[in-house]
Amino acid sequence: MCGIVGYVGRAEAAPILLDGLRRLEYRGYDSAGVAIVTRGHLETRKCAGRIVALASLMTKQPLSGSFGVSHTRWATHGKVTDENAHPHFDASGKLALVHNGVIENYQALKEQLIQGGDTNFRSETDTEVLAHLIGKLYDESCASTVDAPQKKARLLTAVRTALQQVIGTYGIALVHAEVPDFMIGARRGSPLVLGVGKEENFLASDVSAIVAYTRDAVYLNDFDVVALERDKFEISSLAGEIGDYRVSKVEFTAEDIKKGDFRHYMLKEIFEQPNTVRDAMRGRLSLEECTAKLGGLNMTPAQLRDVGRIVLTGCGTALHAGRVGEYLIERLANIPTEVEYASEFRHRNTPITPETLVFAISQSGETADTLGALRESRRKGFRTLGICNNVASTIARESDGGVYMHAGPEIGVAATKSFTSQLVILTLLGLLFGRMRNLSTSEGSRIIEALEALPGQIEEVLNLSDQIKAIARTYADVNGVLFFGRQFNFPIALEGALKMKEITYLFAEGHPSAELKHGVIALVRPDLPSVFIVPDDAVFSKNLNNMEQVKARKGPIIALTSGNGAKQLKNVANEIISVPEAPDCVMPILTVIPLQLLAYHLAVELGRDVDKPRNLAKSVTVE
Ligand code: GLU
Repeated sequence: MCGIVGYVGRAEAAPILLDGLRRLEYRGYDSAGVAIVTRGHLETRKCAGRIVALASLMTKQPLSGSFGVSHTRWATHGKVTDENAHPHFDASGKLALVHNGVIENYQALKEQLIQGGDTNFRSETDTEVLAHLIGKLYDESCASTVDAPQKKARLLTAVRTALQQVIGTYGIALVHAEVPDFMIGARRGSPLVLGVGKEENFLASDVSAIVAYTRDAVYLNDFDVVALERDKFEISSLAGEIGDYRVSKVEFTAEDIKKGDFRHYMLKEIFEQPNTVRDAMRGRLSLEECTAKLGGLNMTPAQLRDVGRIVLTGCGTALHAGRVGEYLIERLANIPTEVEYASEFRHRNTPITPETLVFAISQSGETADTLGALRESRRKGFRTLGICNNVASTIARESDGGVYMHAGPEIGVAATKSFTSQLVILTLLGLLFGRMRNLSTSEGSRIIEALEALPGQIEEVLNLSDQIKAIARTYADVNGVLFFGRQFNFPIALEGALKMKEITYLFAEGHPSAELKHGVIALVRPDLPSVFIVPDDAVFSKNLNNMEQVKARKGPIIALTSGNGAKQLKNVANEIISVPEAPDCVMPILTVIPLQLLAYHLAVELGRDVDKPRNLAKSVTVE
């Protein structure tokens, strides 16, 4: 959540900062702002609304200068207003700070500052308090005349001292009018990456902001403080010790984060799934041994053999992937598996046995709740692995090992391709653990065949897009949508409902089909369609009963089926969408795609902002 871009170099900062903000807009789009130092003066432009509003403001009132910071906000403290937009300033107005995260003790710090005579607060944000605190410490340390190098050192000390007083999370970037060509960044709990250029350096909350300028990146760790100048940078700890770092090559290019011919990133990402699913299994299948090879787990066969219980943790879409994983791993490997909301797991005293393996699932690898769960699990001494998309993300770096999705950048706020990649990886885990236990070679090769068939089958499902668009038109004036499924497709009902809520803003709920009669059926009425995910599998006839119960109460039914299902549903369902046949454990990878498309087409029909849905943002880095 929230995008930060900072620049120090020789070029004009404004276009670079704006370009970076546009690329980060999916991380927050409540308000945006830029501060640039020009000839010893700090100037700012900021406003509520999208980056286009800021860009038009900057066209009317341009800013010139070659170092500055910028921000696109996802408000946590204070309304969405011009005043609350970042950057925020210290009392002197010479220091500008952008921040991602939450300063939990901002009230106490603010009171202390007010008691000390500082009454010049202009916003309701937690961030402004930090700007004032750093500014005050800096001003006090510069009371007597100091030269330029001393000013840099004192600003750095002020940042460290202030951050030592902070409770909460932060990724920050700041500049000071009195300290030219110098920028400071720091992080705790919120991502921050340093982009290393030639005679220019960058700070960003996500490499996608700067990949057009440099592909050399240093991913900062918690409690790192970085001081950047045009031609050098230094990373140190909060205590001031100089630290080590590694420059990594960013895996993707600026080309990979373009929308191409697609109207929305979400649609582009839905259509990428034949490839992303292939990439998630590439090099990870052993036809000979009928199993999966996942070297990144960093575990010996004996250690894998000893796993007696698995906990899958995540949030939102990743949690739903975990729910499919629970069915998968228990079916294929017979290992007791549980799924936990990351936010609950980390604060709950879940009894974990020594043979438990914990997986933290997060596309961004920065999700604050999932990171919290990972840290709590590791603190308790459990082996904790990550399933992430972003290489070198915090979860990937802090876990004991894991599996990358290799899905490429996901920009649409509503997750799509990362979900199916997570499902592939969980299937691979089920296969691996299963083949170490009771899963026979023939069962193993049946799963492998099913996985290898997926890219082609997904192409077939994508060909249903026009049919699904027509269905979306038919149901464009409904008051909500219910989703039902059993077994492997129960989590798909949850995911279908989540997509629907996220981008259409319609009321939507997912339930196990059989739960219908235990309460949900009270909602059934003609303007509330029910989507039933009913592939032609072992629970098809049970699902059919539930559909009859809805039909008897005049609820419209959209059925998502496979194989012979369509024939049997002719007289029950109002609409039938048919996907190719697959074994039940991989079927969710096919059934979720029509639901992504249904939510997408309905959202477009309703005129929603598909890639930037209301109140949401990508990569939830706050708790
Ligand atoms: N807590 C800060 C605010 O509400 C930063 C939010 C963000 O990460 O965008 O302004």
